[in-house]
Amino acid sequence: MKIEDFKSLRDIHQYFAVNNRCKLKKSATQPVYENNPPKSGIVFIGEAPGLNEDKQGKPFVGAAGKLLDELLTNIGYTREDVYVTNVVKYRPPDNREPLPEEKNTCRVWLNAELVFLKPKVIIPLGRHALERFLPEQQISLVHGQAFTHSSGIPIFAMYHPAVALYNPTLKDTLMKDFLKLKKFLDGEMKAIDAEKIESNDNESIQKQTLIDEILKL
Ligand code: URA
Repeated sequence: MKIEDFKSLRDIHQYFAVNNRCKLKKSATQPVYENNPPKSGIVFIGEAPGLNEDKQGKPFVGAAGKLLDELLTNIGYTREDVYVTNVVKYRPPDNREPLPEEKNTCRVWLNAELVFLKPKVIIPLGRHALERFLPEQQISLVHGQAFTHSSGIPIFAMYHPAVALYNPTLKDTLMKDFLKLKKFLDGEMKAIDAEKIESNDNESIQKQTLIDEILKL
């Protein structure tokens, strides 16, 4: 299988829903994903589906998703304008954090989405998505800032909306960070030079790596 063989996001999801070794498959109802590429090129990456997402097969449809919608509306965007996905495509039991092995087995699936989408900006929500692109960085230190990834794609670090659901201070921080995101999208804020950021992402989202990974399946 080569990346060129995928003609749509639907092709990608259908392929990886069958060809993946994520053990969460057994306990989850279904994989969670969306099929429409965003016109804006904006891609948000969450952690893993929760109960509502597992039931509906769609990312961010529960309480954290409602907050994400609110944050987007505040800066003049809607969910239809952006693409939302997760590091792990299946719900971990009792909403526990995804394990390294689960993140790894879903890695190539996310790679395929990103290579297909060619995002204008990637917004990792929380530490599980952040570690994928900026493994040395802590979300509490880099949130609200954009970094150029070795693939050339800007990474705008953001707290996960779930952490703000019951914490007004963090909700305020998220709202401010979304305003900074708007500035970045409008070209009024620059990404921090990637050279200054240590990135250990050797298996980055570059095309050749992705093809190699797909061939290994
Ligand atoms: N939290 C996530 O990280 N992803 C979802 O899809 C929903 C909640």
